[in-house]
Amino acid sequence: MNCREFLERLEDYIDPQTATELRAELDTHAFGCSHCQVTFNTTRKTVEIYRNNELYELPQNLREKIQEAVMKKCSKMREANKDCSGSTSE
Ligand SMILES: [Zn+2]
Repeated sequence: MNCREFLERLEDYIDPQTATELRAELDTHAFGCSHCQVTFNTTRKTVEIYRNNELYELPQNLREKIQEAVMKKCSKMREANKDCSGSTSE
C-alpha cells in the first residue's frame, strides 16, 4: 500500500466496522509512514470533534427553535384567550 491508497482508505481506517484485513494493511503503512500517521491522527480528531459538536449543538439549536415556536404559539393563544375572555366577560 502506498500513501495515495492509504489516504483513499482513510475513512475506512476511522470506521470501526472496517474489515481487519484492510485495517492490518493500513496499520502497516501508518506504522512505517509518519506523514500518513499524522494525517490519520488529525483526521480522526477532526471527525471526533465534529461528532461531539453534532451531539452538543444540534439539540441546543433544536431546543431554541422549539422554544421559539412554543413561545409564538403561547403568545398567540394568550392573545386569543384575552380577546375571547374580553368579549365574553361583558
Ligand atoms: Zn504514507
